[in-house]
Amino acid sequence: MFKSLKKKLFADPESAASLIRRLLKENFKSYRSQYAIAFLLMAVAAAAGAGSAAIMKDVINEIFIDRNQTMVYVISATVVTIFVIRGLATYGQQVVLSRIGNSIVAGLQERMYQKVTRLGVRYFDHTSFGDLATRFGHNTTSARQVMDMIILAAGRDLMSVIGLVSVMVYQNPLLSLISMTIMPPAVFVVSKLVKRVRKIAKSQFVSQTKILSIVKETAIGIRVVKSFRYEPEMAGSMSTAVREVEQQSNKIAKLTARTSPLMETLGGIAIAMIILYGGYSVISLGQDPGAFFAFITALLLAYDPIKRLARLQVNLNSALVGVRLMYELLDMDEAKGGEAGLKELEVSKGEVKLDNVVFQYGETPALDGLSMTAQAGKVTALVGSSGAGKSTVFAMIERFYEPQSGAIFIDGQPICEASVESLRSSIAIVTQDTFLFDRSVRENIAIGRPDASEDEIIEAAKNANAHAFIEGLDNGYDTMVGEGGGRLSGGQRQRIAIARAMLSNAPILLLDEATSALDAESESKVQSALARLMEDRTTIVIAHRLSTVRNADVIHVLDAGKLLESGNHNELYKMDGFYRRLCELQFTEGSD
Ligand code: ADP
Repeated sequence: MFKSLKKKLFADPESAASLIRRLLKENFKSYRSQYAIAFLLMAVAAAAGAGSAAIMKDVINEIFIDRNQTMVYVISATVVTIFVIRGLATYGQQVVLSRIGNSIVAGLQERMYQKVTRLGVRYFDHTSFGDLATRFGHNTTSARQVMDMIILAAGRDLMSVIGLVSVMVYQNPLLSLISMTIMPPAVFVVSKLVKRVRKIAKSQFVSQTKILSIVKETAIGIRVVKSFRYEPEMAGSMSTAVREVEQQSNKIAKLTARTSPLMETLGGIAIAMIILYGGYSVISLGQDPGAFFAFITALLLAYDPIKRLARLQVNLNSALVGVRLMYELLDMDEAKGGEAGLKELEVSKGEVKLDNVVFQYGETPALDGLSMTAQAGKVTALVGSSGAGKSTVFAMIERFYEPQSGAIFIDGQPICEASVESLRSSIAIVTQDTFLFDRSVRENIAIGRPDASEDEIIEAAKNANAHAFIEGLDNGYDTMVGEGGGRLSGGQRQRIAIARAMLSNAPILLLDEATSALDAESESKVQSALARLMEDRTTIVIAHRLSTVRNADVIHVLDAGKLLESGNHNELYKMDGFYRRLCELQFTEGSD
């Protein structure tokens, strides 16, 4: 029977029992000795609690009935000792548990972050910043709360109740039985509350996620928000989200608190019954009043831990919602390709070839049987209207996504058989909106090759026409660039990205040309830096400038994920087809 119950409890990995079991399994072992100390201290505190109830018998019998003067001192001293012991044990237990809890949160956050960095790009297409931030902050804390609740329930509360009930049963078994009659109705009502709490806690997560996303959008897009006077709309969405969380929190608080009036009423009834029967047995049957007092004291002391145990299920379920979401992330399938044992990609010339590649993000194909080659050491330009699939080609080469069919080869080796590490280290990327981390200029360049020396970094910066302006910054290479590189101009950011690519010295360069115009001086510096970067590399460029397509060795014209035309500028222009129309409409004059 126990086996089938166990099977039923743990069958669903999302069930409360399975989650708790997993949490305990993952965390209990690493902190075994600390938990043992905490338990020991809780046992001492529980024993002290039971002792303080048991001593009531002597207080009544020795002091009030026998009027023994010496016992007044002995008992008083014992009481002080018992309470001091209880205080110290509780202190120790709290410190130990908090340390374990903080360490659990830190460990989980590390695990989650590592997991997030291993997830595929596809995951981020569907995940908001708010969702991630909530899982990181709130949900790891939920895991800690669940661990604390269980340990405290099993240790402090259960042990106290066992100690106190032992005193009760020892003093008066019949009265103990009477006081147990409140249990069944309490259990029934509590289990009904649990279900409702679980539902509300889940929708609360959704609203919390929304709040964080709005805050992030405001921080990043503050200029757009202000220019378009979009503040009232943002404030409106924020109000809706925060009010939702407020209401949900109120509901949870109300449901959780609902256990109190219930338990108080039932407790009051039980105590009244005990007094009725106990009073009758002392007065009419001449029983020992000390034993009765010890009993009542134990009952009153047991009352609080019992109340907490009754509420445990409700609290556990609301915290388990967070734990469930945390495991959902930790259990997510990782992007393919990170596996060890895959071949190292050996790039000599750097020819990139797409063979009949089909890929779709959602319903419609972004690449629809695309075959194209970027010759080694040459410049290949990709052109096409917006949405034609140019950026998707880059994402495929970097293996951010896997094609549904077809294959991509670098120097004849299928990239799906190569390790992602070796693939990405042979590719440098410069995009139109350069992403800089909120770190120093030096660190931002060194991302290209973390083990580069100071001289190599400066060399790369010089080749990228960035050295002079970096020297002119307040702290030179140590200047912090601000979030997203906000303290630098567009042209400066691009040159840092170029320096980064220079430093990495990868044989293949993926370049997404900037569409926005820079001032003439910045523009010519960026262009000459780019020209230097492209030397001796296989370059694939998403072209937005006439000068780029004119200089490209081969131009591939894409449309709706297919290759439409190929050739150099003059050939394609003469064909008087799609390319010519694109040229007339789309390209801006380059500065050279
Ligand atoms: P281009 O770079 O030529 O403008 P893209 O490669 O960005 O074109 O896009 C090709 C198609 O794929 C478009 O229809 C676009 O809407 C779609 N697409 C691009 N990125 C995503 C994404 N992350 N999720 C879903 N659809 C996408």
